[in-house]
Amino acid sequence: MTFASLGLSEPILLAISEQGYSTPTPIQAQGIPAVLAGGDLLAAAQTGTGKTAAFTLPLLHRLSQAEPARNARGQVIPRVLVLVPTRELAAQVAENVRDYGKHLKLRSMVMYGGVGMQPQIDALRRGVDIVVATPGRMLDHHGQRTLDLSGIDTLVLDEADRMLDMGFIHDIRKVLALLPRKRQNLLFSATFSDEIKVLANTLLNQPKVIEVARRNIAAASVRQTVHPVGRERKRELLAHLIRERNWWQVLVFMRTKHGANRLAEQLRGDGIGADAIHGNKSQGARTRALAEFKSGKLQVLVATDIAARGIDIDQLPMVVNYELPNVPEDYVHRIGRTGRAGAEGEAISLVCVDELRFLRDIENLIGRGIDRNLVAGFEPDPQERAQPIRVGRTVIGGGRAASGPRRADAPRGQGGHGRGDAGGGHHGHAGQPRRNEGQPRRDGGQPRRDGGRGPSRGAAPARRNGTTG
Ligand code: AMP
Repeated sequence: MTFASLGLSEPILLAISEQGYSTPTPIQAQGIPAVLAGGDLLAAAQTGTGKTAAFTLPLLHRLSQAEPARNARGQVIPRVLVLVPTRELAAQVAENVRDYGKHLKLRSMVMYGGVGMQPQIDALRRGVDIVVATPGRMLDHHGQRTLDLSGIDTLVLDEADRMLDMGFIHDIRKVLALLPRKRQNLLFSATFSDEIKVLANTLLNQPKVIEVARRNIAAASVRQTVHPVGRERKRELLAHLIRERNWWQVLVFMRTKHGANRLAEQLRGDGIGADAIHGNKSQGARTRALAEFKSGKLQVLVATDIAARGIDIDQLPMVVNYELPNVPEDYVHRIGRTGRAGAEGEAISLVCVDELRFLRDIENLIGRGIDRNLVAGFEPDPQERAQPIRVGRTVIGGGRAASGPRRADAPRGQGGHGRGDAGGGHHGHAGQPRRNEGQPRRDGGQPRRDGGRGPSRGAAPARRNGTTG
């Protein structure tokens, strides 16, 4: 299959070939015709599947075939609204929109918090066709009457599961109530939780459903290894590995912002170029760190899960889980940062005795065991006992898995994998205390087209260490 056979116009095909893409990915092959046909879409696809182009390319095509929308004063107003959970993802999607639309006359802008309103207001005044936004800042603009939503005929919710995880359901419902009723809705989500199903029922009208294989993290393109290590020796081991193995462009994951800062500092103390990105850093500082990392000037970038969402670096060679995530899906997202688009990648996890339960959950999710590899001189003390892991005042786990498939401190040979590919379907967010079941809804309520509301869910789960607008 080719992009040309999907019916996209020449200027878009040119931009695609300039990006170096020759063949549509599965989500693009199915999604592009569906979006061009104009109906609603429910797509289960993760970052790394090419999902951004799957909605951006056909929307650019459609917009470029029609006249701009204008308000009573003749100003061009947006027709497409793309909502995303984080600033990083907003910037990423907006960059893709610009790249793919570079031979078209359409105008787009990105709108997120943490930066001044005025440049965004100026861009809106000049007229834009496509707005890529985080919900909070978008609502701010609407509240200040700087954003006219009356021309919106297409809404995209990207990484909708992450938006719900971050507590945006209330904002999303507010936005829905502000949009023209007649419109096309595209909902992208990595997982299909009950909350996503409820949202989809409210939002979508007879959607086409596309499910592309969960990014196959057992694929040969990401080599995964666990290095069992003592709790107190992780930093030493990381510095050792970076030096010994000449790692460059290493993305290191931490659970908390504080941990990310401290590790970056310590690595700098070890003479290794490192910086941290997370939600407490200014947008300027984050953009700078990311640019330096991308260009290869910065050797190590330490990130929290949410800050790393949407970071798109081609062929990132190395991802390190300095701490395993307690939400197993986050592991999948983390290692999805490497080995993209056919390039070889490597994901290393430094695992101490406290994290064996998380490791078991991850192995259950991906449907295979991960190879253990002891690094000489850093073997964990078999006497070391598991301790609870705290994030703030919350204990998120810790301790040995009650019926774990194998012990992190027991080295395994190569191979010997389980089912061989990633298990599909949704898996609960084990151990993550973030749902507020039974809490009354606070949203204004969006009229729905299919009657009934589905079960009411808590409207305000705890915000994670996010970076949002
Ligand atoms: P996404 O899932 O949208 O985050 O995209 C993941 C990565 O795949 C990005 O780096 C895109 O530039 C790249 N990409 C998207 N579509 C294609 C394609 N058809 N062929 C090769 N790479 C692609």
